[in-house]
Amino acid sequence: MTDNNKALFPRTAIIGVGLIGSSLALALREQKLTDDIIGVDQSADVLARAKKLGVIDTAEGTLASGVKDADLIVLSTPVGAAKELCASLAEHAKDGAVIIDVGSIKGAVADAASSLPERLYFVPSHPVAGTEQSGPEAGFPSLFKDRWCILTPLERQDAPYLDAVEKVKTLWQGVGADIEVMDAAHHDLALAVTSHLPHLIAFTLVGAADDLESVTQAEIVKYSAGGFRDFTRIAASNPVMWRDVFLNNREAVIEALGRFTEELTALQRAIRWGDGEALHKAFERGRDLRKAIVDAGQETAAPNFGRDES
Ligand code: NAP
Repeated sequence: MTDNNKALFPRTAIIGVGLIGSSLALALREQKLTDDIIGVDQSADVLARAKKLGVIDTAEGTLASGVKDADLIVLSTPVGAAKELCASLAEHAKDGAVIIDVGSIKGAVADAASSLPERLYFVPSHPVAGTEQSGPEAGFPSLFKDRWCILTPLERQDAPYLDAVEKVKTLWQGVGADIEVMDAAHHDLALAVTSHLPHLIAFTLVGAADDLESVTQAEIVKYSAGGFRDFTRIAASNPVMWRDVFLNNREAVIEALGRFTEELTALQRAIRWGDGEALHKAFERGRDLRKAIVDAGQETAAPNFGRDES
């Protein structure tokens, strides 16, 4: 709630009421940052479920009717839909509406936003928070608490746009996130290393294990606690979302993949030649990095990732 008891964004339209869209809807309502939430989704079934769960107040079948009176429009679909959605918002969003997205890629989203007129204020956002689940049932309001949200504002310096950027910062801080501002290209390279590459490796590893004829499916399941199951959690992520991530961040991912392949080849060589010193050095780096992540509060230090095995 703002000082004069008026919600920061009285009316909000959430386009794509899945894990992230519903989490944000729940958090905005909990923090009284909005009064009224309209859901728009390509799936009528998702909308009906979101309404039943109390995630949204109203379900709208079309984007045009859903956004026409919205003060805040949240694009929470896979990134591949951004271009078409922006073209539609250019026609149907009301003057002065603030638009945010939550996409894991920012360069392609900035390109999509270039079709928007100046009367609309798009502030690209990426909450670095999520799970491997999808759909409105997976949403929960504390998802963004103590997580980073990266903003990559467009190259606009007009006062109303800068005001919109400040309002979007207030929004994300209001739902518990810490804000970082950077340019879209830097975001896409950083996230290629910290998120996209690990997902690619998990998809590859799980696929390769599945293909290995000498290891039966039963053994994969039985001994998965040996490390494999942590990769399966990542590999269970939404296939459409990840398809769009790799289609829209090609260059940065290929760069990160090149570095990774070099490191892997060096380790392969160390194993082949029995170079224990090189292996020890490489694994020590892993431990140090993990410690730094735990020290920064981005992960629990509890054994077994804090899993309750009881
Ligand atoms: P999700 O649970 O699958 O939700 C996406 C929703 O958008 C689905 O209901 C989908 O419908 C709908 N949708 C797809 N295209 C649409 C369109 N053109 N118009 C209207 N609705 C449409 O996915 P999510 O995990 O919330 O991901 C949403 C966004 O958040 C993605 O851009 C992703 O990059 C970003 N993100 C995800 C995570 C994460 O961990 N999941 C973290 C940070 C950011 P259908 O079910 O019919 O396809």
